[in-house]
Amino acid sequence: MSQFSQHSFANEKALIRVDFNVPLNDSYEITDDTRMRAAIPTIKKILADGGSVILMSHLGRPKDGPTEKYSLKHLVPHLQELLNTKGQPNVPVLFANDCIGEQAGLTANMLRPGEVLLLENLRFYKEEEKGDKAFAEKLSKLGDVYVNDAFGTAHRAHASTAVIAQFFPKDKRMFGLLMENEVNSAEKVLHQSQKPFTAIIGGAKVSDKILIIENLLERATDIIIGGGMAYTFIKATGGKIGNSLCEDDRLDTARELLQKAEAKGVRLHLPSDSTIADKFDANANDSTAPSNNIPDGWMGLDIAENACEQFTNVIHKSKTILWNGPMGVFEMAKFQHGTKAIAKAVAEATQKGAFSLVGGGDSVAAVNQFGYADKVSYVSTGGGALLEYFEGKELPGIAAVKA
Ligand code: AMP
Repeated sequence: MSQFSQHSFANEKALIRVDFNVPLNDSYEITDDTRMRAAIPTIKKILADGGSVILMSHLGRPKDGPTEKYSLKHLVPHLQELLNTKGQPNVPVLFANDCIGEQAGLTANMLRPGEVLLLENLRFYKEEEKGDKAFAEKLSKLGDVYVNDAFGTAHRAHASTAVIAQFFPKDKRMFGLLMENEVNSAEKVLHQSQKPFTAIIGGAKVSDKILIIENLLERATDIIIGGGMAYTFIKATGGKIGNSLCEDDRLDTARELLQKAEAKGVRLHLPSDSTIADKFDANANDSTAPSNNIPDGWMGLDIAENACEQFTNVIHKSKTILWNGPMGVFEMAKFQHGTKAIAKAVAEATQKGAFSLVGGGDSVAAVNQFGYADKVSYVSTGGGALLEYFEGKELPGIAAVKA
Protein backbone atom coordinates (compact mmCIF):
# COMPACT_ATOMS: atom_id res chain seq x y z
CA MET A 1 0.00 0.00 0.00
CA SER A 2 1.19 3.47 -0.76
CA GLN A 3 2.07 6.18 1.73
CA PHE A 4 -1.06 8.13 0.76
CA SER A 5 -3.43 5.17 1.12
CA GLN A 6 -1.93 4.21 4.48
CA HIS A 7 -1.97 7.71 5.91
CA SER A 8 -4.95 8.71 8.05
CA PHE A 9 -5.79 12.36 7.50
CA ALA A 10 -8.16 12.52 10.51
CA ASN A 11 -8.10 16.05 11.96
CA GLU A 12 -5.32 17.09 9.60
CA LYS A 13 -5.37 19.93 7.12
CA ALA A 14 -4.00 18.56 3.86
CA LEU A 15 -2.45 21.14 1.56
CA ILE A 16 -2.80 19.66 -1.93
CA ARG A 17 -1.07 20.98 -5.05
CA VAL A 18 -3.53 20.14 -7.79
CA ASP A 19 -3.42 20.96 -11.50
CA PHE A 20 -6.67 22.87 -12.02
CA ASN A 21 -5.27 24.61 -15.08
CA VAL A 22 -8.47 23.99 -17.06
CA PRO A 23 -9.55 25.80 -20.24
CA LEU A 24 -12.24 28.49 -19.70
CA ASN A 25 -14.35 30.19 -22.38
CA ASP A 26 -15.12 33.93 -22.49
CA SER A 27 -17.98 33.47 -20.01
CA TYR A 28 -15.60 31.73 -17.58
CA GLU A 29 -17.20 28.35 -18.18
CA ILE A 30 -14.97 25.29 -17.99
CA THR A 31 -14.74 23.66 -21.42
CA ASP A 32 -12.81 20.56 -20.31
CA ASP A 33 -12.81 19.49 -16.64
CA THR A 34 -10.59 16.40 -17.01
CA ARG A 35 -7.90 17.80 -14.72
CA MET A 36 -10.40 18.67 -11.99
CA ARG A 37 -12.05 15.27 -12.13
CA ALA A 38 -8.65 13.59 -11.95
CA ALA A 39 -7.99 15.12 -8.50
CA ILE A 40 -11.35 14.23 -6.93
CA PRO A 41 -10.43 10.73 -5.59
CA THR A 42 -7.52 12.22 -3.62
CA ILE A 43 -9.71 14.94 -2.12
CA LYS A 44 -12.49 12.51 -1.26
CA LYS A 45 -10.17 10.08 0.53
CA ILE A 46 -8.88 12.88 2.78
CA LEU A 47 -12.39 14.11 3.57
CA ALA A 48 -13.56 10.54 4.23
CA ASP A 49 -10.70 10.11 6.72
CA GLY A 50 -11.99 13.11 8.65
CA GLY A 51 -9.47 15.62 7.35
CA SER A 52 -9.90 18.97 5.65
CA VAL A 53 -8.47 20.01 2.28
CA ILE A 54 -6.71 23.16 1.10
CA LEU A 55 -6.29 23.22 -2.66
CA MET A 56 -3.66 25.27 -4.46
CA SER A 57 -3.18 25.52 -8.22
CA HIS A 58 -2.21 27.78 -11.05
CA LEU A 59 -4.52 28.80 -13.89
CA GLY A 60 -3.13 30.08 -17.18
CA ARG A 61 -0.19 32.41 -17.45
CA PRO A 62 -1.10 35.67 -15.70
CA LYS A 63 1.59 38.28 -16.41
CA ASP A 64 0.76 41.13 -14.04
CA GLY A 65 -0.64 39.83 -10.78
CA PRO A 66 -4.34 39.33 -10.03
CA THR A 67 -6.55 39.28 -13.15
CA GLU A 68 -10.25 38.37 -13.33
CA LYS A 69 -9.60 36.13 -16.33
CA TYR A 70 -7.26 33.90 -14.38
CA SER A 71 -9.12 33.78 -11.06
CA LEU A 72 -9.72 30.32 -9.64
CA LYS A 73 -12.99 31.56 -8.14
CA HIS A 74 -14.61 30.65 -11.48
CA LEU A 75 -14.00 26.99 -10.63
CA VAL A 76 -15.77 26.95 -7.26
CA PRO A 77 -19.33 26.00 -8.41
CA HIS A 78 -18.06 23.13 -10.56
CA LEU A 79 -15.71 21.90 -7.84
CA GLN A 80 -18.68 21.88 -5.49
CA GLU A 81 -20.67 19.77 -7.99
CA LEU A 82 -17.83 17.30 -8.48
CA LEU A 83 -17.39 16.81 -4.72
CA ASN A 84 -21.03 16.27 -3.88
CA THR A 85 -22.35 12.74 -3.57
CA LYS A 86 -26.04 12.05 -4.18
CA GLY A 87 -28.03 11.67 -0.97
CA GLN A 88 -25.27 13.14 1.21
CA PRO A 89 -24.91 16.68 2.59
CA ASN A 90 -23.01 19.11 0.37
CA VAL A 91 -19.27 19.36 0.92
CA PRO A 92 -18.60 22.97 2.01
CA VAL A 93 -16.23 24.62 -0.50
CA LEU A 94 -14.69 27.92 0.58
CA PHE A 95 -12.57 30.30 -1.47
CA ALA A 96 -9.72 32.57 -0.37
CA ASN A 97 -9.07 35.45 -2.76
CA ASP A 98 -5.34 35.26 -2.08
CA CYS A 99 -3.12 32.19 -1.71
CA ILE A 100 -1.09 33.66 1.16
CA GLY A 101 -1.73 36.52 3.61
CA GLU A 102 -4.13 37.11 6.44
CA GLN A 103 -7.43 35.93 4.91
CA ALA A 104 -5.94 32.71 3.56
CA GLY A 105 -4.28 32.07 6.93
CA LEU A 106 -7.42 32.72 8.97
CA THR A 107 -9.69 30.68 6.70
CA ALA A 108 -7.24 27.79 6.67
CA ASN A 109 -6.99 27.97 10.46
CA MET A 110 -10.72 27.79 10.95
CA LEU A 111 -11.27 25.01 8.42
CA ARG A 112 -13.11 22.08 9.96
CA PRO A 113 -12.90 18.38 9.06
CA GLY A 114 -14.91 17.68 5.90
CA GLU A 115 -14.42 21.19 4.49
CA VAL A 116 -12.52 22.29 1.38
CA LEU A 117 -10.75 25.58 0.80
CA LEU A 118 -9.61 26.63 -2.68
CA LEU A 119 -6.84 29.24 -2.73
CA GLU A 120 -6.54 31.93 -5.41
CA ASN A 121 -4.17 31.41 -8.37
CA LEU A 122 -0.58 30.81 -7.21
CA ARG A 123 0.81 32.50 -10.32
CA PHE A 124 -0.60 35.87 -9.22
CA TYR A 125 2.76 35.89 -7.41
CA LYS A 126 5.91 35.88 -9.52
CA GLU A 127 7.53 34.00 -6.65
CA GLU A 128 5.63 30.84 -7.60
CA GLU A 129 7.38 30.24 -10.92
CA LYS A 130 10.68 31.53 -9.55
CA GLY A 131 10.58 28.78 -6.93
CA ASP A 132 10.96 31.38 -4.17
CA LYS A 133 11.74 29.73 -0.85
CA ALA A 134 10.12 32.34 1.41
CA PHE A 135 6.89 32.18 -0.63
CA ALA A 136 6.93 28.37 -0.45
CA GLU A 137 7.39 28.56 3.32
CA LYS A 138 4.38 30.89 3.66
CA LEU A 139 2.24 28.42 1.69
CA SER A 140 3.50 25.53 3.78
CA LYS A 141 2.18 27.14 6.99
CA LEU A 142 -1.40 26.63 5.75
CA GLY A 143 -1.41 22.84 6.07
CA ASP A 144 -0.21 20.01 8.33
CA VAL A 145 0.60 17.67 5.47
CA TYR A 146 1.63 18.32 1.84
CA VAL A 147 0.16 16.25 -0.97
CA ASN A 148 1.41 16.69 -4.53
CA ASP A 149 -1.22 15.57 -7.02
CA ALA A 150 -0.23 17.80 -9.93
CA PHE A 151 1.57 15.58 -12.44
CA GLY A 152 1.01 18.17 -15.18
CA THR A 153 3.43 20.55 -13.43
CA ALA A 154 5.80 17.94 -11.96
CA HIS A 155 8.53 19.01 -14.45
CA ARG A 156 8.58 22.52 -12.96
CA ALA A 157 10.69 23.46 -9.94
CA HIS A 158 8.10 25.96 -8.74
CA ALA A 159 7.41 27.02 -5.15
CA SER A 160 4.24 24.93 -4.76
CA THR A 161 5.29 21.95 -6.86
CA ALA A 162 8.75 21.25 -5.48
CA VAL A 163 10.34 23.85 -3.14
CA ILE A 164 7.54 23.59 -0.56
CA ALA A 165 8.20 19.89 0.15
CA GLN A 166 11.26 20.65 2.29
CA PHE A 167 9.05 22.35 4.90
CA PHE A 168 7.31 19.08 5.73
CA PRO A 169 8.88 16.03 7.39
CA LYS A 170 9.09 12.90 5.26
CA ASP A 171 5.96 11.32 6.75
CA LYS A 172 3.99 14.51 6.07
CA ARG A 173 4.75 14.89 2.37
CA MET A 174 3.50 12.50 -0.26
CA PHE A 175 1.95 12.00 -3.69
CA GLY A 176 -1.82 11.94 -4.12
CA LEU A 177 -3.65 9.14 -5.93
CA LEU A 178 -3.42 10.75 -9.38
CA MET A 179 0.31 11.38 -9.07
CA GLU A 180 0.85 7.83 -7.78
CA ASN A 181 -1.01 6.39 -10.77
CA GLU A 182 0.93 8.57 -13.19
CA VAL A 183 4.30 7.70 -11.68
CA ASN A 184 3.50 3.99 -11.38
CA SER A 185 2.33 3.80 -15.00
CA ALA A 186 5.33 5.69 -16.32
CA GLU A 187 7.71 3.54 -14.25
CA LYS A 188 6.05 0.36 -15.46
CA VAL A 189 6.83 1.42 -19.02
CA LEU A 190 10.27 2.89 -18.56
CA HIS A 191 11.80 0.64 -15.90
CA GLN A 192 9.73 -2.54 -15.67
CA SER A 193 8.68 -3.07 -19.27
CA GLN A 194 7.85 -6.55 -20.44
CA LYS A 195 9.31 -7.17 -23.87
CA PRO A 196 8.56 -6.66 -26.71
CA PHE A 197 8.27 -2.97 -25.78
CA THR A 198 7.02 -0.76 -28.60
CA ALA A 199 7.16 3.02 -28.48
CA ILE A 200 4.93 4.78 -31.00
CA ILE A 201 6.15 8.31 -31.59
CA GLY A 202 4.32 10.71 -33.85
CA GLY A 203 3.52 14.37 -34.22
CA ALA A 204 4.92 17.20 -36.21
CA LYS A 205 8.55 17.72 -35.32
CA VAL A 206 11.61 15.52 -34.95
CA SER A 207 13.33 18.27 -32.97
CA ASP A 208 10.78 17.95 -30.14
CA LYS A 209 11.23 14.20 -29.90
CA ILE A 210 15.00 13.62 -30.27
CA LEU A 211 15.67 13.21 -26.56
CA ILE A 212 12.77 10.85 -26.01
CA ILE A 213 13.80 8.69 -28.98
CA GLU A 214 17.40 8.60 -27.74
CA ASN A 215 16.32 7.48 -24.29
CA LEU A 216 13.88 4.92 -25.69
CA LEU A 217 16.65 3.43 -27.85
CA GLU A 218 18.10 2.17 -24.55
CA ARG A 219 14.88 0.41 -23.56
CA ALA A 220 12.45 -0.34 -26.38
CA THR A 221 12.61 -3.29 -28.77
CA ASP A 222 10.60 -1.46 -31.45
CA ILE A 223 10.12 2.22 -32.23
CA ILE A 224 7.35 3.19 -34.63
CA ILE A 225 7.69 6.63 -36.15
CA GLY A 226 4.67 8.27 -37.75
CA GLY A 227 3.20 11.72 -38.29
CA GLY A 228 4.98 14.64 -39.91
CA MET A 229 8.30 13.75 -38.28
CA ALA A 230 8.54 10.49 -40.24
CA TYR A 231 9.37 12.39 -43.46
CA THR A 232 12.60 13.83 -42.10
CA PHE A 233 13.70 10.24 -41.42
CA ILE A 234 12.56 9.09 -44.85
CA LYS A 235 14.41 11.92 -46.61
CA ALA A 236 17.49 11.13 -44.49
CA THR A 237 17.53 7.64 -46.00
CA GLY A 238 17.33 9.01 -49.55
CA GLY A 239 13.53 8.98 -50.02
CA LYS A 240 11.62 11.47 -52.14
CA ILE A 241 9.07 13.19 -49.90
CA GLY A 242 7.59 15.90 -52.17
CA ASN A 243 6.29 18.81 -50.10
CA SER A 244 5.92 16.81 -46.87
CA LEU A 245 6.93 18.36 -43.59
CA CYS A 246 10.71 18.16 -43.20
CA GLU A 247 13.30 19.63 -40.85
CA ASP A 248 16.30 19.84 -43.14
CA ASP A 249 18.54 20.88 -40.26
CA ARG A 250 17.72 17.58 -38.54
CA LEU A 251 18.60 15.19 -41.36
CA ASP A 252 21.93 14.33 -39.72
CA THR A 253 20.23 13.78 -36.38
CA ALA A 254 17.72 11.46 -38.05
CA ARG A 255 20.59 9.52 -39.70
CA GLU A 256 22.37 9.23 -36.34
CA LEU A 257 19.23 7.94 -34.63
CA LEU A 258 18.75 5.35 -37.38
CA GLN A 259 22.37 4.21 -37.02
CA LYS A 260 22.10 4.02 -33.23
CA ALA A 261 18.93 1.94 -33.52
CA GLU A 262 20.68 -0.47 -35.84
CA ALA A 263 23.73 -0.73 -33.58
CA LYS A 264 21.53 -1.47 -30.58
CA GLY A 265 19.29 -3.92 -32.40
CA VAL A 266 16.19 -1.74 -31.93
CA ARG A 267 13.77 -2.11 -34.85
CA LEU A 268 12.82 1.36 -36.08
CA HIS A 269 9.71 1.29 -38.25
CA LEU A 270 8.87 4.02 -40.77
CA PRO A 271 5.53 4.07 -42.61
CA SER A 272 5.77 2.16 -45.91
CA ASP A 273 3.05 4.25 -47.56
CA SER A 274 1.27 7.55 -46.99
CA THR A 275 -2.01 9.26 -47.68
CA ILE A 276 -0.90 12.27 -49.65
CA ALA A 277 -2.60 15.59 -50.38
CA ASP A 278 -2.05 18.39 -52.89
CA LYS A 279 -2.32 20.99 -50.13
CA PHE A 280 -2.56 21.26 -46.35
CA ASP A 281 -6.33 21.51 -46.27
CA ALA A 282 -9.29 19.46 -45.04
CA ASN A 283 -10.73 19.51 -48.59
CA ALA A 284 -7.49 18.82 -50.45
CA ASN A 285 -7.35 16.18 -53.19
CA ASP A 286 -5.87 12.99 -51.76
CA SER A 287 -4.16 9.87 -53.02
CA THR A 288 -1.76 7.18 -51.80
CA ALA A 289 1.97 6.82 -52.46
CA PRO A 290 4.99 4.95 -51.10
CA SER A 291 6.34 7.20 -48.32
CA ASN A 292 9.73 7.33 -50.06
CA ASN A 293 8.31 8.27 -53.46
CA ILE A 294 5.90 11.15 -52.95
CA PRO A 295 5.41 13.24 -56.12
CA ASP A 296 6.47 16.89 -56.18
CA GLY A 297 3.63 19.19 -55.13
CA TRP A 298 2.13 16.53 -52.83
CA MET A 299 2.63 16.01 -49.12
CA GLY A 300 2.16 13.06 -46.74
CA LEU A 301 -0.54 13.91 -44.22
CA ASP A 302 -1.28 10.44 -42.83
CA ILE A 303 0.01 6.90 -42.85
CA ALA A 304 -1.82 4.76 -45.46
CA GLU A 305 -3.24 1.22 -45.50
CA ASN A 306 0.01 -0.80 -45.79
CA ALA A 307 1.65 1.25 -43.06
CA CYS A 308 -1.39 0.76 -40.81
CA GLU A 309 -1.06 -3.00 -41.30
CA GLN A 310 2.73 -2.88 -40.84
CA PHE A 311 2.40 -0.94 -37.55
CA THR A 312 -0.61 -2.94 -36.34
CA ASN A 313 1.39 -6.18 -36.66
CA VAL A 314 4.18 -4.77 -34.50
CA ILE A 315 1.72 -3.41 -31.91
CA HIS A 316 -0.19 -6.71 -31.70
CA LYS A 317 3.04 -8.54 -30.76
CA SER A 318 3.92 -6.06 -27.99
CA LYS A 319 3.66 -6.54 -24.25
CA THR A 320 4.39 -2.92 -23.35
CA ILE A 321 3.28 0.08 -25.43
CA LEU A 322 3.97 3.78 -25.12
CA TRP A 323 2.14 6.12 -27.51
CA ASN A 324 2.98 9.78 -27.89
CA GLY A 325 1.88 11.81 -30.90
CA PRO A 326 -0.61 11.29 -33.77
CA MET A 327 0.18 9.42 -37.00
CA GLY A 328 -1.26 12.15 -39.21
CA VAL A 329 -3.25 15.36 -39.30
CA PHE A 330 -6.04 13.73 -37.30
CA GLU A 331 -7.84 17.06 -36.84
CA MET A 332 -8.94 16.72 -40.50
CA ALA A 333 -11.38 13.86 -41.23
CA LYS A 334 -9.56 12.81 -44.43
CA PHE A 335 -6.29 12.30 -42.59
CA GLN A 336 -7.36 10.65 -39.33
CA HIS A 337 -7.55 7.06 -40.56
CA GLY A 338 -3.99 6.18 -39.52
CA THR A 339 -4.27 7.57 -36.00
CA LYS A 340 -7.60 5.76 -35.58
CA ALA A 341 -6.08 2.47 -36.80
CA ILE A 342 -3.21 2.79 -34.33
CA ALA A 343 -5.61 3.58 -31.46
CA LYS A 344 -7.56 0.44 -32.40
CA ALA A 345 -4.39 -1.68 -32.53
CA VAL A 346 -3.24 -0.39 -29.13
CA ALA A 347 -6.69 -1.19 -27.67
CA GLU A 348 -6.57 -4.71 -29.14
CA ALA A 349 -3.07 -5.36 -27.78
CA THR A 350 -4.25 -4.12 -24.37
CA GLN A 351 -7.20 -6.51 -24.52
CA LYS A 352 -4.68 -9.34 -25.12
CA GLY A 353 -2.76 -8.36 -21.97
CA ALA A 354 -0.27 -5.66 -22.99
CA PHE A 355 0.26 -2.63 -20.76
CA SER A 356 -0.37 0.54 -22.77
CA LEU A 357 0.29 4.12 -21.77
CA VAL A 358 -0.93 7.01 -23.91
CA GLY A 359 0.45 10.45 -23.14
CA GLY A 360 1.05 13.84 -24.67
CA GLY A 361 -1.70 16.30 -25.60
CA ASP A 362 -2.52 15.24 -29.14
CA SER A 363 -2.50 11.47 -28.70
CA VAL A 364 -4.71 11.88 -25.61
CA ALA A 365 -7.09 14.06 -27.65
CA ALA A 366 -7.09 11.36 -30.35
CA VAL A 367 -7.93 8.41 -28.05
CA ASN A 368 -10.69 10.51 -26.47
CA GLN A 369 -12.07 11.60 -29.85
CA PHE A 370 -12.08 8.06 -31.28
CA GLY A 371 -13.54 6.46 -28.13
CA TYR A 372 -10.53 4.38 -27.06
CA ALA A 373 -9.65 6.12 -23.77
CA ASP A 374 -11.10 3.34 -21.61
CA LYS A 375 -9.62 0.59 -23.79
CA VAL A 376 -5.97 1.40 -23.07
CA SER A 377 -4.26 0.77 -19.73
CA TYR A 378 -3.56 4.38 -18.79
CA VAL A 379 -4.12 7.83 -20.27
CA SER A 380 -1.71 10.33 -18.75
CA THR A 381 -2.78 13.84 -17.72
CA GLY A 382 0.76 15.18 -18.15
CA GLY A 383 2.00 16.45 -21.53
CA GLY A 384 5.35 18.13 -20.95
CA ALA A 385 5.90 16.29 -17.67
CA LEU A 386 5.44 12.87 -19.27
CA LEU A 387 7.70 13.76 -22.16
CA GLU A 388 10.47 14.88 -19.79
CA TYR A 389 10.04 11.71 -17.74
CA PHE A 390 10.56 9.61 -20.87
CA GLU A 391 13.52 11.73 -21.87
CA GLY A 392 15.07 10.30 -18.70
CA LYS A 393 15.02 13.54 -16.72
CA GLU A 394 14.31 13.63 -13.02
CA LEU A 395 11.12 15.62 -12.44
CA PRO A 396 11.56 18.21 -9.65
CA GLY A 397 8.01 17.64 -8.33
CA ILE A 398 8.72 13.95 -7.86
CA ALA A 399 12.28 14.34 -6.58
CA ALA A 400 11.24 16.86 -3.91
CA VAL A 401 8.67 14.55 -2.32
CA LYS A 402 11.02 11.56 -2.48
CA ALA A 403 14.08 13.43 -1.11
P1 AMP B 1 3.11 17.38 -31.79
O1 AMP B 1 2.54 18.55 -31.05
O2 AMP B 1 4.52 17.52 -32.20
O3 AMP B 1 2.81 16.07 -31.11
O4 AMP B 1 2.33 17.35 -33.18
C1 AMP B 1 0.96 17.21 -33.31
C2 AMP B 1 0.53 17.82 -34.59
O5 AMP B 1 1.21 17.21 -35.66
C3 AMP B 1 -0.95 17.65 -34.88
O6 AMP B 1 -1.57 18.90 -34.85
C4 AMP B 1 -0.99 17.03 -36.26
O7 AMP B 1 -1.96 17.63 -37.10
C5 AMP B 1 0.39 17.30 -36.81
N1 AMP B 1 0.78 16.33 -37.82
C6 AMP B 1 0.74 14.99 -37.75
N2 AMP B 1 1.12 14.42 -38.88
C7 AMP B 1 1.42 15.41 -39.74
C8 AMP B 1 1.87 15.44 -41.10
N3 AMP B 1 2.09 14.33 -41.77
N4 AMP B 1 2.07 16.66 -41.64
C9 AMP B 1 1.85 17.79 -40.96
N5 AMP B 1 1.42 17.81 -39.68
C10 AMP B 1 1.21 16.65 -39.07
